Amino acid sequence: MRTGVFFYYQKGERLRDFPQALEGILEKTNVFLYDAFYPSKPPSSFELEPISSEVLCQIHSRQMVEEVRETGIFEGALLSASATVRAAEKIWAGEIDNAFVFTGYGDHHAGTCFFGGGCYFNGAAIAVRVLRKEFGAKRFAIIDTDAHHGDGTWEIFEGDLDVLYVCFCSLPNIEKNNNINVHIPARITNEGYLDLVRKDFLLRAKTFQPEILFWNYGYDGTQGEYGDIGLTPEFHILLAEELKTAAGDIALGRFITVLCGGSRRDLSRYLIPRIIGVLAKE
Ligand SMILES: [Zn+2]
Ligand SMILES: [Zn+2]
Repeated sequence: MRTGVFFYYQKGERLRDFPQALEGILEKTNVFLYDAFYPSKPPSSFELEPISSEVLCQIHSRQMVEEVRETGIFEGALLSASATVRAAEKIWAGEIDNAFVFTGYGDHHAGTCFFGGGCYFNGAAIAVRVLRKEFGAKRFAIIDTDAHHGDGTWEIFEGDLDVLYVCFCSLPNIEKNNNINVHIPARITNEGYLDLVRKDFLLRAKTFQPEILFWNYGYDGTQGEYGDIGLTPEFHILLAEELKTAAGDIALGRFITVLCGGSRRDLSRYLIPRIIGVLAKE
């Protein structure tokens, strides 16, 4: 597999060890780093090109884009979303097979006209529109395993029959067109959660036949995190393996992992290199 790592350097606790913590992974011949402005960029890395305001407005209202501009973190929000869009374009063009996207500002709480919860632009949603409009892609699946409800992604795709969006969170089971919410209890085991993913996402995705799979990957449900539902770190690695296998079976291996919630530096340092390792494995 050729794996793209889309990295955006940002001050702060959770990604403070990166990209250094990817030592041994970035050196692999099948792993490619796309980087915005990490100061001592490895010579083999590629530029991460920001998307235009026109592209942002394929999902978000002009007024919302202006509101984000006024927050003072526009550039970081733009590069976070740009990384997901560029990953999707490169996968579709066959330059890489799958990708891990580091984000400074996440995705799934950003809707057509609203944002919040550390999310400003919805990178996965913009990527879907770009693939559809510019590349003729037709069917998409998004699995959201962040501990919180992806209200932005839900709103954007509620009426879109060509996007299967399955969100696992504390809200009740809901089904509207191809938006599915799967209730996760306040405490759950790794195996209990994986069973729900198999039953409520993987089976559906097999029938739905998406051409590309997005994973809104939050680790905030891990023990000791702010959305603790009892999962251990191993859970995310097992899930990455299952999703990568599923992408191989149903979507020609096209698979984008987008980093969402989670705050602990020790967990990101443990999990992210291992998940990229799963992606880059043959
Ligand atoms: Zn969250
Ligand atoms: Zn939800």
